[in-house]
Amino acid sequence: MASKRDYYEVLGVARDASPSDIKSAYRKLAVKFHPDRNQGNPEAEEKFKESAEAYAVLSDAEKRARYDRFGHQAEQPGFSGFDPSIFGDFSDVLGDLFGLGGGRRRSSRGTPGADLRYDLSLTFEEAAFGREVEIRVPRLETCETCSGSGSKTGQLVPCRTCGGQGRVRYTQGFFSVARPCPDCAGDGKIVSDPCSDCRGDGRTEHERDLKVTIPAGVDTGIRLRLRGEGEHGRRGGPPGDLDVLIQVEPHERFERQGSDVHEQIELSYSQLVLGTSAKVESLHDEETIKVPPGTSPGHEFRLRGKGIKDLNSHHRGDHIVHVALRVPRPKDLEEEHLELLRKLASFEGDNVEGASVLSKVKNLFG
Ligand SMILES: [Zn+2]
Ligand SMILES: [Zn+2]
Repeated sequence: MASKRDYYEVLGVARDASPSDIKSAYRKLAVKFHPDRNQGNPEAEEKFKESAEAYAVLSDAEKRARYDRFGHQAEQPGFSGFDPSIFGDFSDVLGDLFGLGGGRRRSSRGTPGADLRYDLSLTFEEAAFGREVEIRVPRLETCETCSGSGSKTGQLVPCRTCGGQGRVRYTQGFFSVARPCPDCAGDGKIVSDPCSDCRGDGRTEHERDLKVTIPAGVDTGIRLRLRGEGEHGRRGGPPGDLDVLIQVEPHERFERQGSDVHEQIELSYSQLVLGTSAKVESLHDEETIKVPPGTSPGHEFRLRGKGIKDLNSHHRGDHIVHVALRVPRPKDLEEEHLELLRKLASFEGDNVEGASVLSKVKNLFG
């Protein structure tokens, strides 16, 4: 803190400067070094913070008196310089001073509406190809009876909590910070005769029917944000957003991995040994794949471009066919079939068990 500049020096005022001198000196510096006008200029940002800090102390009679006596040591221990986390709030102080801040400053009228979430369940195909869905969203909308004023006659009285300012001041560190008043939600006024339809809130429950275009390729967890389709704000505040959260139902045959679709087909031992052709139905069409003689279980056939369109590009994934061995249940086999298998096993030199026992059991109940 030893290197810290003197606050009077920072603002460029005399030690006996009047509060209005201090205010106007700070105002000039803040306008000059305001971050909105000095983007990407760290030096200006430093100057801006420095002058804000000096002003915060020198504009407060009590803090100024302490500073005059003890200098920078008057500051609270452990607090070094400007805490950037309160920077946003601090721009409110500036805003109060001379209405700076532009678009960054929150509208002083009304409070923004809440964001809403809608859980949308889609079939596998709907997610793959996209579609238009109609959804019904319950939300708060501006009350038609009172046009959102919340009052029967439009009569408003100043809020007592904030004295009609709409903002209340809190002290944070050695900064004074303004926040919207919790009782009037920043309006500065409250309703003296509440509207009977909305009970003074200015909004009532409505069900809104919306058409939502679901793009091809969405997947579980994808969030589609519809700007301004959330709840209406209070007293002219901006509306919130609506988030449509996608949940994709599982498919009975297909499994999705990114934009690829996986499917398993079962073939018999003889089909794998001798080769065969198999009909495969992808999301897009049906085609016949040639399974060459000697194909092993676990082999994959890749049908290029027969998967799902990537949500963010024109790329389309593949349809991947996994080959599995179909093993018949012994109790479903005819005696002749069993006999052939036994012969095959003996021909291949394989030691098999159970087949003869099984046929005896089968004959017993046959
Ligand atoms: Zn109303
Ligand atoms: Zn208030």
